Amino acid sequence: MIEDKYGITIGLEIHAQLLTSTKIFCSCDANVFDREPNSSICPVCTGQPGALPVLNEEVVRKAVMAALALNCKINRYSRFDRKNYFYPDLPKGYQITQYFYPIAENGYLNIKIGEGNKKIRIRRLHIEEDAGKMLHSSDNITQATHSLVDLNRCGIPLIEIVTEPDIESPIEARLFMEKLRDILRYIDVCTGDMEKGALRCDANISIYNKETLERSSRVEVKNINSFRFVEKALDFEADRIKKMMEKGERVEQETRGWDFSSRSTVSMRSKEEESDYRYFPEPDLPPLIVSEDYINELKEKLPELPDEKIQRFQSEYNLLEYDATVLSSSKKLADFFEDCVRLYNNPKRLSNIIINDLLSLLNEHNVEIDGTKIRPEAIVKIAKLIDSSKISASNAKSILEETFKTGKDPQDIVKEKRLEQIDDEEFLNKIIEKVIQQNSKAVEDYRKGKKGVVGFLVGMVMRETRGKANPKVVSQMIESKLNES
Ligand SMILES: [Zn+2]
Repeated sequence: MIEDKYGITIGLEIHAQLLTSTKIFCSCDANVFDREPNSSICPVCTGQPGALPVLNEEVVRKAVMAALALNCKINRYSRFDRKNYFYPDLPKGYQITQYFYPIAENGYLNIKIGEGNKKIRIRRLHIEEDAGKMLHSSDNITQATHSLVDLNRCGIPLIEIVTEPDIESPIEARLFMEKLRDILRYIDVCTGDMEKGALRCDANISIYNKETLERSSRVEVKNINSFRFVEKALDFEADRIKKMMEKGERVEQETRGWDFSSRSTVSMRSKEEESDYRYFPEPDLPPLIVSEDYINELKEKLPELPDEKIQRFQSEYNLLEYDATVLSSSKKLADFFEDCVRLYNNPKRLSNIIINDLLSLLNEHNVEIDGTKIRPEAIVKIAKLIDSSKISASNAKSILEETFKTGKDPQDIVKEKRLEQIDDEEFLNKIIEKVIQQNSKAVEDYRKGKKGVVGFLVGMVMRETRGKANPKVVSQMIESKLNES
């Protein structure tokens, strides 16, 4: 089969926008998403003559935090270089980056594949500035023939993360990107929002024949702007190259873009060589030197990262690995869970409510936990109501939904809607007798050994009480009644 014959080699280059208040070399506001074009610019970020860059310390701090979280070695000496190229959205004619001496190197990140872990090595992590954005209005409706430039993004701080070619399938590439996003969010360094351009991914892919070891040229895939498309674009490209190799065609070394509308990659240009950029040291910025103390101080500030948290949730709260992983997927959610546990020590119950009921509400309304009216106290109240058999698990869900929408106290909702479970035996006895009388056939079946009819009779009682009877109590009562008569 064609699938078994070929192997895939993928390396990723990821640009992550650092969450800083100002830009990298000037004091312009760095929060430019959805902002009026060219409203956050100055002589420095637009490269006016005589304007000089000053490095933003917050950029260095966040880059070092990211590098530490990705297990990189921090270089105490690093330097900035100019990458020279012309593009209308780059008024300086060069981009300031770290080419020769990056701030960090030799890191790694583990991704989960099946039951095991796979280490993906990170070759380097460096600091650089972003360029502006072109708007080409060549659509068929306006017949416009002009292009516009928005320089708001010029000088937005980025880190570029380059992996070794350790990734062996499109799925692994997606898992790597997801894990990276989770970590960057944990340490509050990047929003991780691919759709808004805060995290961007370019991939290098080549295919080799496992028997002959013949290898295709490397193709670069750009413009992958969502987690879904990381896997899709690479699947498409791997198939395209495999088919060409199968036919004996030559695979060009080139840059291709992921085209959303055709769900395919299209050729953009033949790949330029690094030497075409004529890198040289940036004369307007001194070398960047960070002290051992500075690095250690940031190391101590690093929060517990997802992998450690998953481990701890399993050992400390006795949760299943799956549950621990879901709860640790964001720091906010994990903190919320632990706030609940601090108030009520039944981690299993709390984790069930959060994973089964709360998360589906969050997904449905597309919000994060801190953007809702739900407080840990509410989840704890619901957990206690279930544990004391006051409400059923199915009612718990609707109570949570009501609290989610209105912020009302779960106990008040139970009272208002009379949702409390009925376990008053005298009351239940009357209903059970009525149900047994009306279903003499089922009673006969039970005597003949069909024990399953108990479930049916419980269901009838639940219907009579509109789901409020305590099913456990009802089941016991029915069984003893059927056995005695
Ligand atoms: Zn500026």
